[in-house]
Amino acid sequence: MSRNTIADRLSDLRQELPTGVRLVAVSKFHPVEMLQEAYDAGQRVFGESRVQELVQKAAQMPKDVEWHFIGHLQRNKVRQIAPFIALIHSVDSPELLAEIERQAALAGRTIPCLLELHVAQEAEKFGFTPDAALQFLREGEWRQLAYVQLRGLMCMATFTDDTDEIRREFQLARRTFEQAKTECFADAPAFRELSMGMTDDYPVAIEEGSTMVRIGTKLFGPRNY
Ligand SMILES: *Cc1c(COP(=O)(O)O)cnc(C)c1O
Repeated sequence: MSRNTIADRLSDLRQELPTGVRLVAVSKFHPVEMLQEAYDAGQRVFGESRVQELVQKAAQMPKDVEWHFIGHLQRNKVRQIAPFIALIHSVDSPELLAEIERQAALAGRTIPCLLELHVAQEAEKFGFTPDAALQFLREGEWRQLAYVQLRGLMCMATFTDDTDEIRREFQLARRTFEQAKTECFADAPAFRELSMGMTDDYPVAIEEGSTMVRIGTKLFGPRNY
């Protein structure tokens, strides 16, 4: 039988996640009352995918929430989250990274970021191909960025029932991550996060080396779009 309160589901998930795998509670489209329930059960890390919704919720939730941005981020909206965002998972172009640098400098803080990898088969998903990500990291211009800290990579697998396909995509992300770490971040231990795994595929993602799972539906139920 499925357990019915957010606190129950949170505690089940915590049991299930190995040490070293962090839970991002993906709260997009859910009302702050539900976030507050998770907060009261000890959850502090929340992921949102739309700037306006994130800003509104941040104003209503306690100040020690760690807000993660996980959706496609338009450059003209970076300014609104720069003062407080704890991690941007979804950096999908060098231009976006440059704008994050600019806004982080204006806000006077460092913004941790992950590069989003496009490993799925759907064309509409965003991100660097694995080759483009490695090339970008090797070229090294990002080393000039003073207010952005690259913390690792993020990916979304194809939306499919084919577990082998999902596993292959996570393995590709993992290999890309390891290669980037060895070649470009040997002197930067902060590059250590591999954000992958959602409600339907997080067990596979964990087997393939995820350090951060982004879980919405399993925690908060279905979304009302
Ligand atoms: C919505 C979303 C999730 C969470 O999806 P669930 O299937 O509800 O767990 C995770 N990652 C990203 C990037 C999302 O947009």
